[in-house]
Amino acid sequence: MARSCSMKHFFAVLVVLAGLFSAPLAAAGDLIASSAILEDSGGNLTIADVVGRKFIPFNRKVSKGYTDSVHWVRLRVRAPAHGNEVVLHIGSSFLDDVRLYEASDSNPLEWVTRVTGDKYAYSQRDRVAIALGFVVNVTAPEQTFYLRIKTTSESLLNIEALEPHEALRKEQKSGLLRDVFMGLMLWALVWAIDHYIVDRQPTIGLFGLYQAVYILYGLSITGYFAPFVPDGFPQMADWLANILTCGVPFMFILFSRALFRLYGPAPSLMRGLNLFLLIFPVQFAAMAAGHTLAAIGINALLSLAAVWYCVVVAFSARIEQAPSLRFLRATYIVLALFATESILAGFGWWPTWDASVSGEWELITQGVVSSVLICSMLYARLRQLRRDAQDSAVALALSQKTLELERAYKEEAEIHARTDYLTGLFNRRYFVELVRRELARAIRSKEPLSLLMMDIDHFKAVNDMWGHSGGDMVLRKVGQLIRDVLREVDVFGRIGGEEFAAVLVGADIERALEIAQRLRTVVADAEIALAQGGQVRVTVSLGLTELMGRDIDLDSLLHEADEALYKAKRSGRNCVVVADDGVSA
Ligand code: GH3
Ligand code: MG
Ligand code: MG
Repeated sequence: MARSCSMKHFFAVLVVLAGLFSAPLAAAGDLIASSAILEDSGGNLTIADVVGRKFIPFNRKVSKGYTDSVHWVRLRVRAPAHGNEVVLHIGSSFLDDVRLYEASDSNPLEWVTRVTGDKYAYSQRDRVAIALGFVVNVTAPEQTFYLRIKTTSESLLNIEALEPHEALRKEQKSGLLRDVFMGLMLWALVWAIDHYIVDRQPTIGLFGLYQAVYILYGLSITGYFAPFVPDGFPQMADWLANILTCGVPFMFILFSRALFRLYGPAPSLMRGLNLFLLIFPVQFAAMAAGHTLAAIGINALLSLAAVWYCVVVAFSARIEQAPSLRFLRATYIVLALFATESILAGFGWWPTWDASVSGEWELITQGVVSSVLICSMLYARLRQLRRDAQDSAVALALSQKTLELERAYKEEAEIHARTDYLTGLFNRRYFVELVRRELARAIRSKEPLSLLMMDIDHFKAVNDMWGHSGGDMVLRKVGQLIRDVLREVDVFGRIGGEEFAAVLVGADIERALEIAQRLRTVVADAEIALAQGGQVRVTVSLGLTELMGRDIDLDSLLHEADEALYKAKRSGRNCVVVADDGVSA
């Protein structure tokens, strides 16, 4: 399980990296003969103003950070080898307002002008595609075009003039790259949702939200929402992009805060994270008040500060966890480095690498790296949680089993302690205990109670004749016969070798005498079959006494019954004697 998942991560990263590195190879067959740039810091020059001005040659890449400035670009484009259509391909795709002027001999104010960019309704754009651009006809060997480019986001420009099939190929390649990227991002999102549903871990739920916001942010700034934006309200695309731009760091801090809590970081530093969160509503207010550019610029700086602040918090954490503190710290350092590079490049404060740096490239690498790292962290945590849960389930099951065994053992021990092993009747100890209770109750409630003692006659002879096992059999059978005659409420037990005793609850002496006689006849009439073959007949002698409303202790009562029994023996056995009375039968 662990291996298959890390393998999945590994392959996903490989596929994305392969896509990333194949994308720049697409730029081929460029038809731009020369390009020059002019900055219009006020943004109020017209085409007629700039045509006569001095343009500075540039390599078609410019990085200018969050400014209101306008760039004018002059391109000289060669005629293509086939046909005369050329696609002016302009990256990045998150530009607000791009206008194209086709130079001719007439007055510049009358030149053919076309528009594209987020500011314009999708249907008004010159070339309908995700990437911005224009399709022009180049009939002369070389033709001049002017571009007026205005953006409120970081303006990393990359302008190419491509033959239509080249432009298509380039778009297909970057489309594939974006699809792979989106696939990976969505996979991480689904993974987070799935695990949140199962494990209910707040960190995973927040990561899912972060992931969702990042995906929407990516879609909005690369122009994917443009076809869905209503024609009369093109600003909606920009608003959405701006809100999501601020939403990404907000969600990232929210997620990080939940994650850090598990590691016991310094509480004062955690409060600082809350402060970062509080700044976002202010940014939204600034945006709503029309200070969009300021809000976006502050957002970039704030994100940079927040991500390094997170590194500090991670280093203040003290509680070891899964994933380990080392993993946590390393992840945040990597994320901070990526964020630093992309934000500084956005401001134009970072040396732009030759071909690879573009807004989309930043977006993709940062998205992939953060998803893969965070997913791995959360996965390590989930695995540990599941292992812990399993361990405690096993421990619980074990302790429950032990408890059950102990209870069963105790019950068995109790039964042993109160029963006679041979007959299964109450033993002397337990009989006495129960009778003591019955006696106390009868004395209290002044209810009748009789005590009966019986002894098998000439039992020694039974043993002598049938052996000890034969004797045991007789003891069991006699016990059984008597138990069957008595009622449930009567207390009956084997109190000695071949001696039994019974307390007849609620029975006065007349009733007790009846019962005693019945017992005597039941035993005398029984033919006891022995296991080894043969049949035995035995008789019992019985001594009987009654409580008779006296306040008397058990020993005395037992003594009276014993005396009566003794008398019964002397009177010839197989009879019942009532204490202080004559032989009854
Ligand atoms: P009596 O009519 O006077 O009671 O004669 P008795 O033979 O029954 O008298 P006694 O009390 O002397 O003998 C009791 C015998 O019961 C002695 C003993 O070996 C036997 N006995 C006691 N406990 C057990 C037992 O658990 N199993 C068997 N088989 N015999 C027992
Ligand atoms: Mg006997
Ligand atoms: Mg005896």
